[in-house]
Amino acid sequence: MISDNTNTHGLWAATAPAAPPCPALDSDEDCDVAVVGAGYTGMSAALHLAEAGKNVRVLDSHEPGWGCSGRNGGQINPGWKLDLDEIARHYGDAWKDRAIGVAKEACGTVFELIDRHKIDCQAVRSGYVQGGVGKRGLRQLQQRCELWQSVGKDARLLNARESADLLGTEAYDACMQHPDGGNLQPLSYARGLTLAAQSAGTLVHGNSAAISIEPMGQDWRVRTTNGTLTARHVVIGTNGYTDNLWPGLKKAVVPVASVLTATEPLSDNLRESILPALHSVSETIRIQVYYRLDNEGRFVIGGAGPVWQAAEQGSTAACRAMAERYFPALKGVKWIYDWAGYPAMTWDKAPKLMQLAPGVLAGMGYNGRGIAMATMMGKQLAREITGEGADLPVTALYQTPFHALHKFGIFATVTKGRVMDRFD
Ligand SMILES: Cc1cc2nc3c(=O)[nH]c(=O)nc-3n(C[C@H](O)[C@H](O)[C@H](O)COP(=O)(O)OP(=O)(O)OC[C@H]3O[C@@H](n4cnc5c(N)ncnc54)[C@H](O)[C@@H]3O)c2cc1C
Repeated sequence: MISDNTNTHGLWAATAPAAPPCPALDSDEDCDVAVVGAGYTGMSAALHLAEAGKNVRVLDSHEPGWGCSGRNGGQINPGWKLDLDEIARHYGDAWKDRAIGVAKEACGTVFELIDRHKIDCQAVRSGYVQGGVGKRGLRQLQQRCELWQSVGKDARLLNARESADLLGTEAYDACMQHPDGGNLQPLSYARGLTLAAQSAGTLVHGNSAAISIEPMGQDWRVRTTNGTLTARHVVIGTNGYTDNLWPGLKKAVVPVASVLTATEPLSDNLRESILPALHSVSETIRIQVYYRLDNEGRFVIGGAGPVWQAAEQGSTAACRAMAERYFPALKGVKWIYDWAGYPAMTWDKAPKLMQLAPGVLAGMGYNGRGIAMATMMGKQLAREITGEGADLPVTALYQTPFHALHKFGIFATVTKGRVMDRFD
């Protein structure tokens, strides 16, 4: 059971509905698809596959939502870390339209699943706001709005006054207001996806770490301490918590610690002036914070975590100070929860859909945008297995250059980013 006193799931463990029962695997079973990892990637893949008539089992070393999917900021962000023109360049003529379609439709996929399966996760469709600071921020937001408008999304650029009226902070010189996205309770969403997959016939096993994957003729045998799954297809959705299960897979992504903190519920007065329309906000700043309110009016803010310690040991003091700088009325409000986790970054900022061997697929690397994109990746993995074909190219195992030095890389990026942000 996820505990709320270990700095792992904080506010979300305290306010989510109970975890669905997921008994450990303790026998040898056959299925069509064995899924490793019960976050959004794994559970969305399982749900889409079960709906397509596949016999699916899911293994998680802990329980559904234990990884990033039960810890994140709950911001449903449209788009990727790459802008739409960068996506086009990254995938080239053969794939660019489909890849942009994936980025464009990812938020809608989340809300469609929530509606169809009546997932109880405090979903709010308030859209998404990105705050810009200085000339660089303004330039980025102008371009971003134009790119979104070119694919039919009514993204609007707000000036400083309009931004302050919308958000209740004077922090920004401009904002992009995007019609898609919003926010949700992330652990509730992970558990809701699990319930939906279980209702569609999927068997989900908690406390069942996959410890090896071996070929068995045309099939694969996934072994846990007390049982095995033999399946034609294996899906790996372990993201920032990827271990040594598949040789080299750990090097596909770079886990980067992120910390979050939340207040007590704000008074009605404060709620009228702080994010009155319940927007999710992130920033153009390189080392940014991201924030929102939950459905009881708690202010939730996250930012960069520690580099050399475990994420859960990181301090949230800088996030709290930033919150009080942006919204001085928060001074004196009690901060109750701290928690943290490891989103997975990729070297080229693109998510990875990989075929590790015939029948073994992996999806990961959402660069902090995984509510929408991991859900969408699960759908793409399912499409690949059912023969419909994914809308992203399936590549071989991706390897991050200089992976062994990744902590030094994070340290250098954060330090340089902080210095450059001061000049913007
Ligand atoms: C602090 C934080 C804030 C974030 N904020 C946002 C946000 O506001 N908006 C947004 O869109 N994204 C955000 N993200 C990113 C988002 O949460 C992730 O991209 C997304 O949840 C990834 O889902 P996943 O299913 O791929 O991986 P995860 O949810 O991490 O799931 C991986 C699962 O694999 C399991 N596992 C690992 N190895 C094994 C094994 N050998 N056998 C069995 N199971 C195994 C783990 O137990 C885990 O449950 C944030 C992440 C963090 C940590």
